[in-house]
Amino acid sequence: MEQKKIVVLGAGESGAGAAVLAKVKGFDVFVSDSSAIKEKYKQLLDSYDIRWEEGQHTEAEILSAHEVIKSPGIPCDAPLIKALRERGIPVISEIEFAGRYTKARMICITGSNGKTTTTLLTYHILKSAGLNVGLAGNVGQSLALQVATCDYDYYVVELSSFQLDNMYDFKADIAVLLNITPDHLDRYDHKMENYVDAKFRITRNQTGDDAFIYWNDDPIINQKLQTMHLQAHLYPFSELSEPDSAAYTKDNQVVINTPGDTFTMSEESLALHGRHNLYNSLAAGISANLLHIKKEDIRRALSDFNAVEHRLEPVATVKGVRFINDSKATNVNSCWYALESMDRPVVLILGGKDKGNDYREIEPLVREKVKAIVCLGVDNKKLHDFFDGMVPYIADAHSMQKAVDLSYAAAQQGDVVLLSPCCASFDLFKSYEDRGRQFKECVRRL
Ligand code: ADP
Repeated sequence: MEQKKIVVLGAGESGAGAAVLAKVKGFDVFVSDSSAIKEKYKQLLDSYDIRWEEGQHTEAEILSAHEVIKSPGIPCDAPLIKALRERGIPVISEIEFAGRYTKARMICITGSNGKTTTTLLTYHILKSAGLNVGLAGNVGQSLALQVATCDYDYYVVELSSFQLDNMYDFKADIAVLLNITPDHLDRYDHKMENYVDAKFRITRNQTGDDAFIYWNDDPIINQKLQTMHLQAHLYPFSELSEPDSAAYTKDNQVVINTPGDTFTMSEESLALHGRHNLYNSLAAGISANLLHIKKEDIRRALSDFNAVEHRLEPVATVKGVRFINDSKATNVNSCWYALESMDRPVVLILGGKDKGNDYREIEPLVREKVKAIVCLGVDNKKLHDFFDGMVPYIADAHSMQKAVDLSYAAAQQGDVVLLSPCCASFDLFKSYEDRGRQFKECVRRL
């Protein structure tokens, strides 16, 4: 029989992992990346004898594929993807491919904000309860590589909308949709409904035996749900008890109700603070309760989880000024939650590469809590146009050192300096991690 050919486009974590899995499953595999491939992935591909190219796409190789696995970073309207579609060659995601080769139970998490936190928290609960569980998707190793080389019974998988785009037969046993706010619209024809549809693909193929966990107070999720007939069992969560809520808080207690199983713990004991993190804890708690993890194990894990780097991460207190690194706040909504959880006057470091932000969402919180803004970007004009006159002090910085110095000078004992930029980092930094690390280094030198 003819050996089927799989082409993998993009050789980052997911692409390299998909290539290894395809090779292990006996396909003829070719990997093509239009940029340079990282050394560690070259070594991985070589160790499995997988052919690859970098800095180019050889069309003849690619268009002769039976199936193509596309990395989430490549847009669906890239010329090469269009050419594949015209020829009827299926284009799938790494998760779709990996899902074919495992019977493990899949707990899949998506949303505009909170994915990584909730994925790590859910994984922490399952792992510390002793389950044989892998962590995959946007965090940790790719699902495909783990399916190729490990034998887990469960996976906790973080899924971005880009990964969901090319999923067809994959099914989440437990699907979590945390929230939907505008993000990445440039990849969705600037149409919100396309982005919403991509997020809802997490419920695809779910049956009556599966669970769909979502935030009950999200207007966009609720509106969409009214137009759908989901088979899955629904587990909405909300801050306070609502008629359908499976998880909520009442009298300072967290309450989680799944069939035949009620879980409670004191809200104060939760490791993660802020209202957004309550939602993340509720979502993780529902998943854990559905998997019948012992209540004392869930309680312990929800209370001893360590803060995730760059997400409302406490850095240090210098002469009574607290510094908080929320560099991962790359959109306005995540900054809203950061500001909402602040209980002291805030000096806010904001700015970077704007993705079409509408700052009106944070205006009331800025007026209420922010005493100074330091704009940290190559081009700060849009920030000045919006925030000038709204706060007593606004200044410009074009480096992290300058931003930290200005913020520290503007702060008094008892204040918070919050890096929660609302923007991507690529104008001045390599990544949000680089931005967060530079922030921490500058703070520690004060
Ligand atoms: P993602 O992986 O979806 O980008 P993260 O867990 O990395 O989410 O958090 C990104 C940012 O969003 C952080 O600034 C964090 O404080 C904020 N955030 C976390 N959870 C939520 C939530 N449920 N709703 C809104 N914002 C959140």
